[in-house]
Amino acid sequence: MEQLKCNALIIGRNRFSETSLVVWLFTRELGRLDCIAKGCRREKSPMRGHLDLFNLEEVVVVERSRGSLDLVTDSDVTEEFVGLRSNYLAYAGACILGNMITASCMLRDPHPATFDSFVSFLRLSAAEGSDSVCTLLLKSMLDILRDTGFQPRLDECVSCGKKTSGLGGMSLSASRGGLVCSECVDKSHGFGLDAGLVASLNYIANANGNAKSVVIGRKKAYGLIQALIDYSEHSLGKKIKSADIFLRLLKGATN
Ligand SMILES: [Zn+2]
Repeated sequence: MEQLKCNALIIGRNRFSETSLVVWLFTRELGRLDCIAKGCRREKSPMRGHLDLFNLEEVVVVERSRGSLDLVTDSDVTEEFVGLRSNYLAYAGACILGNMITASCMLRDPHPATFDSFVSFLRLSAAEGSDSVCTLLLKSMLDILRDTGFQPRLDECVSCGKKTSGLGGMSLSASRGGLVCSECVDKSHGFGLDAGLVASLNYIANANGNAKSVVIGRKKAYGLIQALIDYSEHSLGKKIKSADIFLRLLKGATN
């Protein structure tokens, strides 16, 4: 059995017994790992209080045979993102990214760019109001889709090749793999976007680490996030369970 030390985000956890937890890790080095942390809830365990949702931790993992849960034998909290726990919108956004990673990354298939984008969202969004949280979430969603091979084509119509800049009546279609213009659109698929939303989406997709500065407003953000969630669910073939709560919180957000 090989023992490995790696940087892990806790993307899910569940009580296994009185003293143990099942934890779903997303590691930079090894990708997703489904693990059990035996005895971590015991009073004297050095792991007690660790392995909290969305913590960044250095963990020691003992790999077991395929089909079995790997073992977490030690952990050290590297970063806790404390502000995230009181920023419900950012927390719900992190849940969306966790859902996307579970749906798009296979076990033990590393995606360091996705890992880095997720950490960046956790770091930057905790102290932000709803506008910036939305932009950062859109950026990380697009990063994950790109890194896992589901990137939507946004600069031109996937059917006829017409440039999307300045065009309204576009549709974001998962079955076609990106934006489709009003002349090529199949009415049964896709999510309608006006010219402003298309421009915002392209801008955020191409922003290099400064997506937070893009202010798109809550109403536009709501439409874009809805469109990208719809695209992701159809592309990944799985429901993004946290999307509804995020959109509900965004509707009621006051800052
Ligand atoms: Zn077209």
